[in-house]
Amino acid sequence: MAVQLFVPNFRVEECLAEIRECLEKGWTGLGFKTVGIETAWKEYTGLPHAHFLNSNTVGLHLAFELFKSKFGWDNDDEVITTPLTFVSTNHAILYAGLKPVFADVDDYLCLDPESVLKHITPRTKALIFVGIGGNVGQYAKIADICRDRNIKLVLDAAHMSGTRVGGKHIGDDADVTVFSFQAVKNLPTADSGMICFRETEDDERVRKLTWLGINKDTYARTASQGAYKWMYDVEEVGYKYHGNSIMAAIALVQLKYLDIDNAYRRQLAAWYGQNLKEKNNVAVVQTAPGCESAQHLLQIRVQNRDALMMALNEHDIFPGVHYRDNTDYRMYAFAQGTCPNATTASKEIISLPMHMRMTKSDVDLISELVIKYAR
Ligand SMILES: *Cc1c(COP(=O)(O)O)cnc(C)c1O
Repeated sequence: MAVQLFVPNFRVEECLAEIRECLEKGWTGLGFKTVGIETAWKEYTGLPHAHFLNSNTVGLHLAFELFKSKFGWDNDDEVITTPLTFVSTNHAILYAGLKPVFADVDDYLCLDPESVLKHITPRTKALIFVGIGGNVGQYAKIADICRDRNIKLVLDAAHMSGTRVGGKHIGDDADVTVFSFQAVKNLPTADSGMICFRETEDDERVRKLTWLGINKDTYARTASQGAYKWMYDVEEVGYKYHGNSIMAAIALVQLKYLDIDNAYRRQLAAWYGQNLKEKNNVAVVQTAPGCESAQHLLQIRVQNRDALMMALNEHDIFPGVHYRDNTDYRMYAFAQGTCPNATTASKEIISLPMHMRMTKSDVDLISELVIKYAR
């Protein structure tokens, strides 16, 4: 049987029961379950604020847009970022009219603090850190750099639902943390996400920005018995970015199983790790010490990546690559050649299949094939 990279695991009956509640109540939009998932997410992560979105991508856009207007940043002010990420991370910088400045990655495939320091200029206003595969990498050092220099820290936690350091969920030391609950992430819905600001005023503002700039949500207006429900104000030109109750219903169920699922992902990673340890021609990307990773990915590096991918495909095994160096894409090509580690990594990395339906024998079989075909 074929082994795919990701297969989301849904508790179908429980999800349907939650969705049924929405349909019976006649409430599928903003409010109701979206309030429920925001509360549950704050409890789960310990973060002070959480606003449910229709994706992580829109959250990253809003993070930059909100800070840009709040702090009066100019067009083309700089945001330090990584070339080794899903393009959402970098597109969000462009959406807000800011300039991505690419720093290089370390052996964890996350931003390297040394390289970050070299890319800071008087125009550096923010940095976006991506915890690739759930790994924190050298995030703590980067957070210090940002704090010392008053650089706003945005954490793209698309892979980090459930990542903990020292027993604590990540995110509380960033100015804003954005999660993805997209279809194949660790907490899969269909499309949704969560934006968690540190400051209350930012959380209040983002709630307006995700609903066209309207200053009260449907739930609050319906709940209050006032006769002037329709007479809301529109305070600025916002977007239609909020999440809905159907996605929230699925997320509420999935959240209950996030820790169990992540523990199994770490088990799969440990099996891969044992099998591939000290094998010639294969290097497993390590999790940073002290990090309990959500283990969205298990990445290895090999010298013959494309040939190995083909060989695995012939055995009905379909790994992935996270990611192509973003400076290969035309809108980021101005930075081509500036991040040699990322460029090299991007040619060597493979993400091995990682999902709840996999067994130890799947891991053993894939490991054997990797060892056999890696050069
Ligand atoms: C998936 C992903 C995103 C985008 O998430 P969506 O919820 O699909 O918008 C952003 N950054 C990274 C690193 C991702 O993997």
